Amino acid sequence: MKDLRFKALLDAQAKKPIPVEAPGHVLADYYGQNVFGRRQMARYLSADTFKAFCNVLDHGTPFNRAIADDVAVGMKNWAMDMGATHYTHWFQPLTDGTAEKHDSFIEYIGLPGGDVIEEFSGKLLAQQEADGSSFPNGGIRNTFEARGYTAWDTSSPAFIVDDTLCIPTVFVSYTGEALDYKTPLLKALHAIDRAATDVCHLFDPSVQKVYSYLGWEQEYFLVDESLYSARPDLMLTGRTLLGHESAKNQQLEDHYFGAIPQRVQAFMKELEFEAYKYAIPCKTRHNEVAPNQFEIAPIYNETNRAVDQNLILMSLMHKVASKHGFKVLLHEKPFAGVNGSGKHNNWSLGTDKNVGLLTPGKTPEENLQFITFLVNVLMAVKRHNALLKASIIHAGNTHRLGANEAPPSIISVFLGSQLSSVLDKLEGAECDEAIILDDKRHMKLGVAHIPEVLVDNTDRNRTSPFAFTGNRFEFRAVGSSANCGCAMIALNSAVAAQLTEFRHTVDSKIASGTTKEHAIFETLKQYIRDSKNIRFDGNGYSEEWMAEAKKRGIDCESSVPLMYDAYTSPQSIEMFESMEVMDRTELQARNEVKWDMYIKKVQIEARVLGDIAINHIIPVATRYQSSLLDNVYKMHQVYAPEKAERLSAHDDSIIEELSMHIAEIKRNVDEMVEARKQANVIISERSRAIAYHDKVFPYFSVIRYHIDKLELIVDDELWPLPKYREILFSH
Ligand code: ADP
Ligand code: MG
Repeated sequence: MKDLRFKALLDAQAKKPIPVEAPGHVLADYYGQNVFGRRQMARYLSADTFKAFCNVLDHGTPFNRAIADDVAVGMKNWAMDMGATHYTHWFQPLTDGTAEKHDSFIEYIGLPGGDVIEEFSGKLLAQQEADGSSFPNGGIRNTFEARGYTAWDTSSPAFIVDDTLCIPTVFVSYTGEALDYKTPLLKALHAIDRAATDVCHLFDPSVQKVYSYLGWEQEYFLVDESLYSARPDLMLTGRTLLGHESAKNQQLEDHYFGAIPQRVQAFMKELEFEAYKYAIPCKTRHNEVAPNQFEIAPIYNETNRAVDQNLILMSLMHKVASKHGFKVLLHEKPFAGVNGSGKHNNWSLGTDKNVGLLTPGKTPEENLQFITFLVNVLMAVKRHNALLKASIIHAGNTHRLGANEAPPSIISVFLGSQLSSVLDKLEGAECDEAIILDDKRHMKLGVAHIPEVLVDNTDRNRTSPFAFTGNRFEFRAVGSSANCGCAMIALNSAVAAQLTEFRHTVDSKIASGTTKEHAIFETLKQYIRDSKNIRFDGNGYSEEWMAEAKKRGIDCESSVPLMYDAYTSPQSIEMFESMEVMDRTELQARNEVKWDMYIKKVQIEARVLGDIAINHIIPVATRYQSSLLDNVYKMHQVYAPEKAERLSAHDDSIIEELSMHIAEIKRNVDEMVEARKQANVIISERSRAIAYHDKVFPYFSVIRYHIDKLELIVDDELWPLPKYREILFSH
């Protein structure tokens, strides 16, 4: 094993950057070449089909079998010209990542056994049976009838990976329950469109559609492939379960500002070229705070497409990394003691007229509209803060949240001093009273008199999990490995429900004789008051905030299995059902899956940790101990007792230390195994997950503590696993 470590180190050091060529002369040559976008459709579809299909895409007009058949033929021809031989319905099961089952285009022309051609019909494009027995479904379907079906999501373009045409689809059971992330996401996006459009009509009756936008920022670590392969914990769990901090880690903050290392730069360049081929408009790339940590972010997109693009990008990352001799770590906390990785979800709403509903406007009407949407988001986050937290939490992300470098595990909203003072003033104002802001700019509240609200977005608070950043909210608590859809389902549904209630309240005020402006204004004032407790501009890491948040009634639960209860609270069920996003059965079933995933993750980690401790660490520590004993023995052979004692005093104390740590590791691993056995017989998923959280998981840090101490004592030459300094500083 130790040879593996040194070989890996030599390997890592020998690697050189691979030169990367642009795939075309200019970006336009290759941008989107791997997706079946409008350019490709215009070429491969008849004029009539193209027009009809564009109508489906732009206006949601229903389409018939004839159109589907024509699109299928065009899509197949394009795919074959691109070298594809297979197709797959690409879907997003509740395990993270994506799933696919590949079929080739091949069909018999006539009788079985005869000649074959490549064929693809509208029926195959639109719908497929999927054997879902191996995907978690929370007991919605019994495994003996474990067949659901996948159905084409026309709103996200098909794309090609290697030799396969991938068709984005939803995955539902025969009885119609969602078994994936995309189904409820599409429903949530429909709900927010409907609710936000209704609210826009109070200001501009000509608005026809509201889009939800998502711009994700993906953080990740790159580690050398050879070193990765010498760490069973990284390979099997995606994170290091042990490893003493490197003497130098991120304290100098030199990595954030430093130049991107050459081998990494080559990786990033190729990743961007690949992403462009999938029409993923990558915009920024930079180093992150921790050593070997980086970020990539495209320009924002409509939410459903942005989610798909993020999934495509994550799989491209793995592929491109292996060409450059790297492994991408998307785990939220691969290394203790340095920053973890998140996926900031920048979220906003915009109309079909390209007016950003969370962008301060130029006219008084636009500003009242802006304040209306802003305050409704505050209300939604206040009401559903426990749910929003449940939407981002999982076994991996729990290591990142709340640590002193990541969003805290209490969902509050940061607005910045300027907007806060606007809301504070509004709260106490009369409808047509003049408001004077601190900086002496006047702000009159009668609809006709609201001047431009200038939002200073340089006012940034990095400790907030949900921050307003000038024209959008940034939901920073999302984990780096997550499907963004999960957070986006909760957020868009919650805001949709809130906007629906707002419109309803305003309408009833108007019906009882209040003017529209007064009705809006009075409702907003009430909301500003009611949502005050969710606003927090201070330090989200501080102890005081913990105590204060509890007092304010914000959810402070820190146990992952218990956080999921927020999905099935009466309030959440009511909200999801009223928005027609998910019903009670689906919510309950999905929680079963979440608990199950939590159990499996912790179980695997516990096994790997036990294995490394017993089979890798203890034998090495024992061998080292025995060499020390040998030394002591020889001292006593060679020297007089007094001198021998003096000379071997140091070895003696190390021998004792080694014994103590070895014994502690052994004892704790045994106890952990026992705790696992007891947990495994618990029938209920929820109770079993709680047992894993309360009874198994706590052993991790104890065992790790003793192993990390051993790492400091045992001869470096014997240590079997690449150390933090080696993994984090090789590139
Ligand atoms: P940061 O300073 O937070 O790193 P960036 O400039 O990197 O900000 O942008 C982060 C992401 O926010 C990008 O994906 C960007 O396209 C996205 N973004 C910008 N404006 C909006 C908006 N109105 N709605 C959604 N996302 C947006
Ligand atoms: Mg950001």
